[in-house]
Amino acid sequence: MYTQNNNFDVIIVGGGAGGLAAAVCCAKKLNKKNCRIAVLEKESKPCKKLLATGNGKCNLTNMNMSEKYYNLNAQSFIKPLLAKYSPQKLIKFWGSLGLLCTSDNCGRVYPNSGQALSVADTLLICLERYNVHLFCDTPVNAVTKTKGGYIVGCTDKEYFCKKLILSAGGYVQPNLGSDGSGYALAKSLNLEYTPLFPSLAPVLCKDKLLPIAKGVRCNALVKCIADGNVIHTEKGELQFNEKNISGICIFQLSRYVNEYFALHTVRRKQCRKIEIQADLMPDNTYEEILSMLSLRRRLYPDSKCSDILCGLLNKKLSRYLCLKLDINENSSAGELSDEVLSGLALYVKKCTFIPSAPSLKENAQVTAGGISLDEITKNLECRKHKGLYITGELLDVDGMCGGYNLHWAFISGIIVGQNISLE
Ligand SMILES: Cc1cc2nc3c(=O)[nH]c(=O)nc-3n(C[C@H](O)[C@H](O)[C@H](O)COP(=O)(O)OP(=O)(O)OC[C@H]3O[C@@H](n4cnc5c(N)ncnc54)[C@H](O)[C@@H]3O)c2cc1C
Repeated sequence: MYTQNNNFDVIIVGGGAGGLAAAVCCAKKLNKKNCRIAVLEKESKPCKKLLATGNGKCNLTNMNMSEKYYNLNAQSFIKPLLAKYSPQKLIKFWGSLGLLCTSDNCGRVYPNSGQALSVADTLLICLERYNVHLFCDTPVNAVTKTKGGYIVGCTDKEYFCKKLILSAGGYVQPNLGSDGSGYALAKSLNLEYTPLFPSLAPVLCKDKLLPIAKGVRCNALVKCIADGNVIHTEKGELQFNEKNISGICIFQLSRYVNEYFALHTVRRKQCRKIEIQADLMPDNTYEEILSMLSLRRRLYPDSKCSDILCGLLNKKLSRYLCLKLDINENSSAGELSDEVLSGLALYVKKCTFIPSAPSLKENAQVTAGGISLDEITKNLECRKHKGLYITGELLDVDGMCGGYNLHWAFISGIIVGQNISLE
């Protein structure tokens, strides 16, 4: 029997970015009708992941918005939605709730406070203002369609709602809440989803020498190369770790690497070999580097061979490069042949990493793959089940680093909230 305590007009599963945006917009739209709206959140507090975004600063959108910053499967579906719900529109939405935003010189938009906490607080204050019920420590483990709505099953309680919004997020970083349980709910409702894999993550590499360069950070131009073709190029800070390479520029390439491991395709095309190539001195040509090395060999023939890169690159990185090329550490600069010297200059420009395994979901920022966009209308309502809506990372939409994933999570919540009706 459903009483006042467990009977709602709208239930939202998941109190994260998309879920709370949906709850606020839903409440704004339906409040005049005295609607009862509830958010069911599995963690003891909502917004755990949101609070961790952008290193605690929450990069919530990007002024350079285009569908090309999202996965191929999603591009034609989200293009009209991005045109309607632009970064400017999203900033205006936040302004209407009292959150002022500011952008950096790359177009990345943050709350003016510099705190993700402000974004979460803004949403939670609105929930209170609009009398939305928030139930924490309430993991949803079953959803059943019934006459006039949905039964939502939790560990020790059942809820009923007329309209249901699934906003349970993806499967990466389960310690921050979303653990993939949303896909199980979707599966139980017979919804198709595309294969899942982590994206925006460090790339694990087959390289015994990598620990030598551990801790090094350098500016680089990195390329993802699939079967000899350059798929994507990024400039940024490359970080060397014990077993992987990371940094935002690598995160941006990691989707291709992880798609390769999950599906043996890259950008949906069959692929047999994938590698990452880094230009460690992008501001100098190969010829310039070779001429600097040749001069050093002539002027300081007695210096240690790895010192030939001293002042050009980090010391640990110089040693790593020499060892990668099997250059004897005890040899002197004067002993390096022309061939070895040009090989070293070339390797500085084309330092190659072979990815060895899929990135760990514990280290990734977003889930690639998800509930197929063929399952939903442009208002994000399920074609198979009227009155069921889906937002955010649970859908087959993933974006690049730079605010694109939160932009999608927020606008998908807004779209559902603004279009839901109780008729
Ligand atoms: C470390 C990190 C940094 C990031 N930084 C950025 C950034 O700066 N900019 C950007 O655009 N993106 C960033 N992202 C990605 C972004 O956070 C996500 O894409 C976005 O939060 C997805 O929103 P969502 O509402 O779909 O899911 P979530 O925000 O994950 O919310 C889902 C909610 O549902 C709850 N839930 C899950 N299952 C259940 C269940 N069965 N029952 C009840 N509740 C459930 C979860 O606990 C969670 O609170 C970052 C991600 C990480 C991990």
